[in-house]
Amino acid sequence: VLKVEHLEKYYQKKHVLHDINFSISKGEVITLLGPSGSGKSTLIRCLNGLEDFRNGEITFENKKVIPNEKNWQQLRQKIGMVFQSYDLFPNLTVLDNILLGPTKVQKRNVDEVKQEVDELLEKVDLLDYKNVYPRQLSGGQKQRIAIVRALALHPEFMLFDEVTASLDPEMVRGVLNIIQDLADEDDMTMIIVTHEMNFAQQIADRVLFLKDGSILEDTPGKEFFKNPATDQAKEFLQSMN
Ligand code: ATP
Ligand code: MG
Repeated sequence: VLKVEHLEKYYQKKHVLHDINFSISKGEVITLLGPSGSGKSTLIRCLNGLEDFRNGEITFENKKVIPNEKNWQQLRQKIGMVFQSYDLFPNLTVLDNILLGPTKVQKRNVDEVKQEVDELLEKVDLLDYKNVYPRQLSGGQKQRIAIVRALALHPEFMLFDEVTASLDPEMVRGVLNIIQDLADEDDMTMIIVTHEMNFAQQIADRVLFLKDGSILEDTPGKEFFKNPATDQAKEFLQSMN
């Protein structure tokens, strides 16, 4: 569904992504791994148009998206993203946070969306919380709501950037389970940046290993964790243990 070719990203003079090439097919789960500063967040942000890039091309469902053009709109509508900081609107209830995109932006029928949101909240065990405000939720609960909010937009593709990084350890599992269910039950196409190596190993169909802005490995998940091809990846895996 998505193909990236020869993508180059600079921040001013700083060259942060070098000739990135990969593709992902429907239902596939990629974990994007690499040391801090290797460019993982930057790459994720390029994929949904949050960052401009200098050269290269992204093809999403046979449509090309080229830097500096305004044809991002469609791509963005089909790609859901969840970050480390869950940025819920503090002055809106959980329900209103979730309804905003589907009803105001996508102009879908409110009652229909509400029913669907109930099902999603049920799934993440937070139906009882729909009328509370974000400040009344724990970090793990907020992050689950942020995932529901992204899913309510009916994305065909989800990007997760260290969604558990700011959570207390006891909150992590609940969030990871939801992502696992999305992979298993909904066959969602996903790119996941994570520091949870057990989770990465369990969920990854493929691993992209990024170092200093270059993809050093693009390997089936099992293979990467058992037998990484590069010294850099070996070193990285050791540092994560
Ligand atoms: P981490 O694991 O710590 O989140 P990362 O792999 O996500 O790291 P990025 O955040 O993508 O790394 O950063 C890649 C490089 O780009 C780093 O050298 C970083 O300093 C630089 N960088 C990131 N954002 C900006 C920015 N807005 N302006 C300038 N340089 C930036
Ligand atoms: Mg990052």
